[in-house]
Amino acid sequence: MRYDVLIIGGGAAGLAAAVSAKKENSEIKIGIIEKNDRVAKKIHATGNGRCNYTNTDIKSDYFYGEQSFITKVLDKFGSGEAIAFFEELGIMHRVEDGRVYPLSNQASAVADSLRLYLAENGVDFITNTPVTDIVRTENGFSVGTLTSDRVIVATGGKASPSLGSDGSGYKLLQKFGHALSSVKPALVSLKTNTDIIKGLKGVKVFARVSLVNKGRVVASDRGEVLFTDYGLSGIPVMQISRFAQKGMTIKVDMLPDLKKSDVLGEVYNRVYSMPLREGGELFSGMVNKKLAVPMLKWAGVEKTSVKAKDFTEPNIRLCADFLKELELTVTGDNGFNNAQVSSGGIELDNFNPHTMESCLCKGLYAAGEILNVDAVCGGYNLHWAWATGVIAGKNAAI
Ligand SMILES: Cc1cc2nc3c(=O)[nH]c(=O)nc-3n(C[C@H](O)[C@H](O)[C@H](O)COP(=O)(O)OP(=O)(O)OC[C@H]3O[C@@H](n4cnc5c(N)ncnc54)[C@H](O)[C@@H]3O)c2cc1C
Repeated sequence: MRYDVLIIGGGAAGLAAAVSAKKENSEIKIGIIEKNDRVAKKIHATGNGRCNYTNTDIKSDYFYGEQSFITKVLDKFGSGEAIAFFEELGIMHRVEDGRVYPLSNQASAVADSLRLYLAENGVDFITNTPVTDIVRTENGFSVGTLTSDRVIVATGGKASPSLGSDGSGYKLLQKFGHALSSVKPALVSLKTNTDIIKGLKGVKVFARVSLVNKGRVVASDRGEVLFTDYGLSGIPVMQISRFAQKGMTIKVDMLPDLKKSDVLGEVYNRVYSMPLREGGELFSGMVNKKLAVPMLKWAGVEKTSVKAKDFTEPNIRLCADFLKELELTVTGDNGFNNAQVSSGGIELDNFNPHTMESCLCKGLYAAGEILNVDAVCGGYNLHWAWATGVIAGKNAAI
C-alpha cells in the first residue's frame, strides 16, 4: 500500500499531525502506524482522566530544551491556536488556573475528537504494528510492507511504556544521523528515606518542597504533596524530580506561608496555653493530625501521650523544625513506568522549527516527546506534542 504521508505513532503528536495534514490537503492518503491495539491510549490517561491539553500562558520559559527552537514553534502554535484547533474538532474548553481542560472534563473526549475526525476523513489506522525500521528508497520511504512519500516519526519518549511509548522510536531517527541525548524519567514521584515519614502514607499537605544539593537549592515548587510508603509524590515533587539525583536532600516546608519564627511562636503558644493536652492532639487545627506521630518522634518526645507541660525547650524547637524544615534524602525516582514524561530525546539541532522536517533527510519529520524537549506540569507537554505535530503534518502535506 502506498501513502502520501505515513505517521509512526498514534499518540498526541501523531494524531495532531494527521489532522493538520488532512486540513492542509484533503486529497492526500495518510496512514498512522501504531504499535498498540488502538491509538490515543495515553491521551485517555492524561490530567487524571481530564486531559489538561494546553495552558493559557504558553511561553518557552516553561519548557526545557533549546529555547530559540521552542520559541519558534510556540510562535506558530500558541495556546490560542491549541484551543481553536480543538474547538474545530468539537472540544469546548474550561480554564482552571491557566490550565485548559475539555468542558466535559473527560480526556476521552479529546482522544475521540481526533480519532473520529481522522476516521471520517479516510485516514487509515494500522494498529498492532510496532515499527522497527524506516528505509529510504528512491522515491520516498518504506516501512515494512508500506511505502510513502513522507514519514513523520511521533513515537513519544520512554515514559509510561505500558501506554505504548517505550523508546523504540529513537533508533528510527538515529539511523538517519540524528543524535540522542541521555533520556531520564521526569515528572515522576521520588523515593526517599522513609524512616521519618513512616505511617504518613496517604497524607497530603500543602507544602513547599526544595531540592538541595551541597547546600544550594536546585529546584523548588509548592502545592499539594503526598506522603507515600516509598517517599513523596504530588505535583510539586514531580516538578522538581527532573533535577533530582540520589543523595540530594528534599526540604519540606509544611507551613510555607508562615515564617519559621511564627511557627515556633505558635508551638510555644500551644504548649503554654494547653498544658494538659497530649502531644498527639496538640497540633490539631494547625497541621494534619497524622503528622503528630513522626513530628514528636523527630522532636524526641517519647510518646504521643506526653502532655504539653512536659515538653522541653529542644522538643518545642524540633517540632517547629519538623514542620518548616523536614529533610529527606533522595534515594531514587519511581522510574519510567511511573513517569509522565521523559527528559532528553532526539536533539533538535538537525530539525527545522518552521516545518519540523529533518535537515539530514528530506521528507522525514519528527514531532512530540521523542524530541529533546520537556516541560513543567500544566498542559505544556501535550501542547508541545500538538504544536510540533500540527507543524509537521501541515508541512508534510504540502
Ligand atoms: C499519566 C500521564 C498523565 C499526563 N498528563 C498530562 C497532562 O494532563 N497534560 C500534559 O500536557 N501532559 C500530560 N502528560 C504528558 C503527555 O501525555 C505526553 O507528553 C504526550 O502524550 C506526548 O505525546 P507524543 O505523541 O509525543 O507521545 P505519546 O503520547 O507517548 O504517543 C506515542 C505513540 O507512539 C506509539 N509508538 C511508540 N513506539 C512505536 C513504534 N516503534 N511503532 C509504532 N508505534 C509506536 C505509542 O504506542 C504511542 O501511541 C501525561 C503523561 C502521563 C503518562
